[in-house]
Amino acid sequence: MSANLAILQQNLDQISGRIEAACHRSGRDRSDVQVIAVTKYARTEWVRELIRLGWTTLGEARPQQLVQRAEEFRDDSDLPDVHWHLIGHLQRNKVRPVLPIVEVIHSVDSLRLLDRIEFMADELQTRPKVLLEINIAEDSAKDGFSVDALIDEWPKLVERSSWQLDGLMTMAPHTDDETQIRKTFAALRTLRDRLREQTPDEPILHELSMGMSGDFEIAIEEGATMIRIGSALYEGLDR
Ligand SMILES: *Cc1c(COP(=O)(O)O)cnc(C)c1O
Repeated sequence: MSANLAILQQNLDQISGRIEAACHRSGRDRSDVQVIAVTKYARTEWVRELIRLGWTTLGEARPQQLVQRAEEFRDDSDLPDVHWHLIGHLQRNKVRPVLPIVEVIHSVDSLRLLDRIEFMADELQTRPKVLLEINIAEDSAKDGFSVDALIDEWPKLVERSSWQLDGLMTMAPHTDDETQIRKTFAALRTLRDRLREQTPDEPILHELSMGMSGDFEIAIEEGATMIRIGSALYEGLDR
């Protein structure tokens, strides 16, 4: 095994340990937290090794790269099947190529996009999970629904969507301030609970997708069911 792959294996072991510890601290079951291994920075051979080691739920931020990567590994019969998640912005004109591949779209940031996804999914006879991306901090540089807009539109949205909405996603602000990060994640959970109260009869919003390399432990403590880890997987690897 090359030095790189040995380092990758070490990183994975270490991250697994940190996830388990965070679950333990917060009284959560390890099986309630799904890890999406984000491959956007990864070389092909690292991705192959990830898959080989059983890290088969992978996330890409760019639709085009997701399609390419999925094609690359689809026909490799030596490897287990990959479950692809799209975590980055999706333009409406990229919905068609992405839909047959993805199991989860984390980044639904407008009603127009949701409409487009539902329409195309009908045509293609597929049904990915969809999560609404929330811009908790109201950062104008970020995509996503504002909390107020979503609360306002929620009844209409639930009525109009032919699907159950599966969850919410957010990104914490880029900061070392742990309090602020925790507040963001707690706000997503609170929003989820509030929306659920409005529609108690619908089995919706199970997933909270939050937490990345720098903050996944806080996210787990605040109730994340999906964490999206990229750079920490590849730390110390030689390009
Ligand atoms: C890149 C990316 C991640 C992973 O970020 P790291 O800090 O590298 O772990 C998670 N979520 C989204 C939406 C991303 O684009």
